[in-house]
Amino acid sequence: MARAVAEGWVGVEALAGIPGTVGAVPIQNVGAYGQEVAQTIAQVHAYDRLERRHRTFASADCGFGYRTSLFKQTPGRYVVGAVTFRFRRGSLGAPIQYAELARRLGVEVGARVPAGDVRAAVLALRRSKGMVLDETDHDTWSAGSFFMNPFVPPGAVPPGAPAFEQPDGRVKTSAAWLVERAGFSRGYGTGDARVSSKHTLALTNRGGASAADLLALATEIRAGVLARFGIELQPEPVLVGCSLG
Ligand SMILES: Cc1cc2nc3c(=O)[nH]c(=O)nc-3n(C[C@H](O)[C@H](O)[C@H](O)COP(=O)(O)OP(=O)(O)OC[C@H]3O[C@@H](n4cnc5c(N)ncnc54)[C@H](O)[C@@H]3O)c2cc1C
Repeated sequence: MARAVAEGWVGVEALAGIPGTVGAVPIQNVGAYGQEVAQTIAQVHAYDRLERRHRTFASADCGFGYRTSLFKQTPGRYVVGAVTFRFRRGSLGAPIQYAELARRLGVEVGARVPAGDVRAAVLALRRSKGMVLDETDHDTWSAGSFFMNPFVPPGAVPPGAPAFEQPDGRVKTSAAWLVERAGFSRGYGTGDARVSSKHTLALTNRGGASAADLLALATEIRAGVLARFGIELQPEPVLVGCSLG
């Protein structure tokens, strides 16, 4: 991401600070602050373990959606070996799509500003939420957002909750809003597994928490949101060999 900004490759500047490998970004269509990698991925080159051959997928055939893809929907089948990106060239970033980022930059949504400024603003926002890894800060000891924003029928959005209409008629609402209103505020938890004190959706390890401790906290939060709002949150991290209760 840093190299793209330095080289004048436009379209991933708002993804600054997201940890991980290139091969992993198509799996959940990594995204943040109004950008998703699906917008700049041209091709994904993968080994198909079922058909035992290398395959190249055009972006349109990758099944990209909100935090998902064909590769995530068929776990274990594809091993991504390379990703081809197609960037526009320029010094200005893509139009700002995210209100909080626009406010930080002092511009309107839809404006374009230098990509380096976007990257710096995103990193500052992410740091303020504990979303940039720092080994001395337990608030950053997380898997990022633990729950995805849910898509629900229009009538299922709780009064006052953020609501973003989708092309398929459903409405995307805010997992963080639901978690907070269900009684799980920042810092919630006992022991070493706690909600981040900077970000409601980050479940953090304060030093000695086990995976079971984190899953117990996630299970409690999910049950609390379901009981309060009738909406079942889905985890964003892929759980291996375990599930939420
Ligand atoms: C502090 C923090 C903040 C984060 N913020 C964001 C954010 O803003 N937006 C966002 O979208 N994500 C975010 N994430 C999640 C994470 O950074 C991304 O999911 C990233 O792509 C994970 O990369 P990784 O290499 O660590 O993959 P892993 O976590 O090791 O793997 C993730 C999944 O992809 C699969 N996978 C990985 N590589 C390949 C491959 N080459 N071929 C096939 N399957 C593969 C794994 O089997 C696993 O199922 C955040 C995480 C953290 C810790």
